[in-house]
Amino acid sequence: MSSGIAERLGRIRHRMERAAERSGRGPADAGLVAVSKTFPADAVAAAFDAGQLDFGESRQQEAAAKIAVLRGELRWHFIGKLQRNKVRKVLEDFRWIHSVDSLRLAETLERTAGEMGANPEILLEVNLAGETSKGGLSPDELRDVTKTVGGFSNVSLRGLMAIPPAVEDPEQSRPWFRRLRELRDELQSDLGVALPQLSMGMSNDFEVAIEEGATMVRVGSAIFGGREYA
Ligand SMILES: *Cc1c(COP(=O)(O)O)cnc(C)c1O
Repeated sequence: MSSGIAERLGRIRHRMERAAERSGRGPADAGLVAVSKTFPADAVAAAFDAGQLDFGESRQQEAAAKIAVLRGELRWHFIGKLQRNKVRKVLEDFRWIHSVDSLRLAETLERTAGEMGANPEILLEVNLAGETSKGGLSPDELRDVTKTVGGFSNVSLRGLMAIPPAVEDPEQSRPWFRRLRELRDELQSDLGVALPQLSMGMSNDFEVAIEEGATMVRVGSAIFGGREYA
């Protein structure tokens, strides 16, 4: 199951560094979140043994079972649809939440984090193409939500995340990645809120995302292999 993970991770890190170089950025400017959803704890352990520290999961219950057997220095990123009744459990296990897709959810996170003494780092998810099948804030609502959430004291707003429409040719993702970066730049200069993180790019298009300014790419199948959903 875990054979080949170290090799694939090494190749991906190399490709990430080359993409950063091409865009005049340093090799440390874009980090890798290894998306381990649907894969077992021993696959995560194999990646950790190969030097990977950041892992992404999209379902609270599935993640909790893995995290329970993988104590240590791993940093967990929640990247899936977050139901408000799962917020407390997610805050117990996850330091980063990439998928904050409504003001209500952000408010629940702020209140619950305060009760728990937690300080999660969060990203606002943007639905760039207005896809009805996906969550995320519209670019129009983003400004008000950024202004409000940027003033919260328990959650730290760190940037934006997007899952653009699936494409075959990674170049087709480029305009979406560029749009997210431009939205970020506008919000930063108009509102004076620091949004250093851009979470964008997956197995198929992470190099293009880095060329367009991604600081975190979320890569699953290119590391762990094909997924089979139950
Ligand atoms: C599954 C998932 C990924 C990883 O997708 P791959 O194509 O396997 O790299 C990235 N981001 C999110 C939000 C996901 O749900």
